[in-house]
Parts: sequence; structure tokens; C-alpha cells
Amino acid sequence: MDELDAVEILRRYWLDGAGTITSKEMVLASCPFCGKGDRIRLLPRQSQTGSPFPQDNYQIAWEMLAATERLPAICGFCLNVVTVGGGQAEMPGVK
Ligand SMILES: [Zn+2]
Repeated sequence: MDELDAVEILRRYWLDGAGTITSKEMVLASCPFCGKGDRIRLLPRQSQTGSPFPQDNYQIAWEMLAATERLPAICGFCLNVVTVGGGQAEMPGVK
């Protein structure tokens, strides 16, 4: 699994579970893809119980994208996975 795989897993998880994910912490940061400033939501570290998605893969993907001051998130508008740190959202893979 590389970062692109991880991005895809997180995005699919969101699409599969968007209606049931309860942890939808908003982050005020501009999306690097579409520029919307109020649509970034942090992705939960662990997939929610009842998600059809394999728990292990989700957590591995989440940890791959996360770093000390970087958390995986998703733009609810354009549905691109981003990483959030220091109040800014960045494209994954940009270090
Ligand atoms: Zn966006």
C-alpha cells in the first residue's frame, strides 16, 4: 500500500459510510483541490462499527497518511482526501 492506495481506501470508506459516520469534526481550512473553506472534515482514526469496510485496511491507510501534526481529512464538496495540519489542508503526499 502506498499513499495513493491509502487515499483511495479512505475516500471509499467515506463514500460507503457518509450517511452513518458520526464523527464529522469540521476543520476551517481551504481545500487544496476545490478551494472551498468550510467542507473539510477529519476522518476518524478507526472505522465505525458496522461499516462494510475492512477495519484493518482502514486503520493502516489512516496511519499511513497521518503524521505528528498531520491528520487525514476529506473535503465533503469535491470528495478529495487531504491532510490537515497547522490550520491548513494539503494534498496527500506533499511533505
Ligand atoms: Zn474540495
